[in-house]
Amino acid sequence: MDSPRRIVIVGGGAGGLHLATRLGRKLGRGGQFLITLVDRSSTHVWKPLLHEVAAGTLDTGVEQLGYIPQANRSGFRYWPGEMTGLDRAARTVRLAALRDSEGRQVLPERDLPYDILVIAVGSTANDFGIPGVAEYARLIDSRAQADAFNDALRAEILRTLAGPPEGTLDIAIVGAGATGVELSAELNTALDFAAAYGLPGLRKRMRLTLVETAPRILGALPERVAASSQAELERQGVTVLTNAQVSEVERGALVLKDGRRIPATLKVWAAGIRAPDFLKNLDGLETTRNNQLVIRPTLQTTLDDAVYAIGDCASLIPPGEERPLGATAQVAQQQAIHLARSLAGVVAGQPPTPFNYSHKGALVALGRYNAFGSLGKRGLLGGGLFVQGKFAQLSYASLYRRHQLGLFGFWRSMLYWAADLLRHASRPKVKLD
Ligand SMILES: Cc1cc2nc3c(=O)[nH]c(=O)nc-3n(C[C@H](O)[C@H](O)[C@H](O)COP(=O)(O)OP(=O)(O)OC[C@H]3O[C@@H](n4cnc5c(N)ncnc54)[C@H](O)[C@@H]3O)c2cc1C
Repeated sequence: MDSPRRIVIVGGGAGGLHLATRLGRKLGRGGQFLITLVDRSSTHVWKPLLHEVAAGTLDTGVEQLGYIPQANRSGFRYWPGEMTGLDRAARTVRLAALRDSEGRQVLPERDLPYDILVIAVGSTANDFGIPGVAEYARLIDSRAQADAFNDALRAEILRTLAGPPEGTLDIAIVGAGATGVELSAELNTALDFAAAYGLPGLRKRMRLTLVETAPRILGALPERVAASSQAELERQGVTVLTNAQVSEVERGALVLKDGRRIPATLKVWAAGIRAPDFLKNLDGLETTRNNQLVIRPTLQTTLDDAVYAIGDCASLIPPGEERPLGATAQVAQQQAIHLARSLAGVVAGQPPTPFNYSHKGALVALGRYNAFGSLGKRGLLGGGLFVQGKFAQLSYASLYRRHQLGLFGFWRSMLYWAADLLRHASRPKVKLD
């Protein structure tokens, strides 16, 4: 019998995990194909939930999904490891040595062979080389970073409570895209919940500043969504600074280009996006200035037909357009669904099919208070149908529900949703211990 054809997917996030699940179900069970998902983490948490993890309003223990059970249920194989390089001639992916939590080597550096490779390793915020960001600001691009921010937040809450009554809890968030805006509102939500559990007054002592270089917040969303979101944040007490460029981050403050200093004990960097550095020199593949792999409409990299890339780590300018698709879960998920279908054809001898993005709208959730968005395709004025309030909140929640539906199927998703309802009714709504 011929050895199975190997499809390797690196990165089990919003795009990669969907792709592995779909391909596993389509091709993984017959013995002809070996679908392998590689991730440096052993569990998946949907990235758009990370601001809730950071604020302490989401229990990651409950929302995380282990790759091993998902692989077992869906017909793919999970392989732990961090991709560091690629040999295109030998068709192997280089994985770093795997170490345990005490730094002891579990597995040596390895090469994993592939016939088709899909890279889906995501992105992080971009520090644009600004001094002090790496030392003094926190990112919330991975579960570990979001957990670390939450630990620091709880420590600062305790310090504030133990300090003088006029002491404040100063937090600054740089970057007013969806991540920065949603985190600002979620922190307010967390402190409201904390008040209900016996910590009143804390909310009034938080001074939260959201800093944005551009003339307005939420630059990728229609103006009306941005204006409504800014008004809501200001109603919550957030100071929103636009046209404000950070030139340096210090231990206790942000320094702006115009000389202003924003005191902040906790600083979050949520500006820009950048793909991982190892992609920059990935055996000659073409990349953008921020390390994204340049791909064609078939989602293949420009210089190698056997190497595909999807999600935040890929840059695709759709035919007839000038700008690349945005780094969103919506794009990553649609690319994964398309590629699962296309690759099923490729392994049967057909050519890969081109991907067409269908913009379904954009939503931003402002904690428990409100949500705004535009649904449908972008019209002449740059937006679709404006939505707000409960309907927008439900539409926003449905994004995660759709993600679960793709991973678990209808009946298991229903069980998850029922369990969520019971948990929400019975457990504390914010992590305080
Ligand atoms: C706080 C926050 C809120 C957001 N809200 C929204 C929203 O409301 N709507 C929306 O559409 N988008 C939102 N986004 C953006 C969205 O999360 C991303 O666009 C999406 O997750 C990208 O999917 P991906 O599969 O490309 O990467 P990711 O989901 O980031 O997954 C990448 C995976 O690759 C793994 N990995 C990374 N490097 C390596 C390596 N070297 N080797 C092996 N594995 C590796 C990681 O562990 C991870 O599992 C938000 C992002 C953040 C941070």
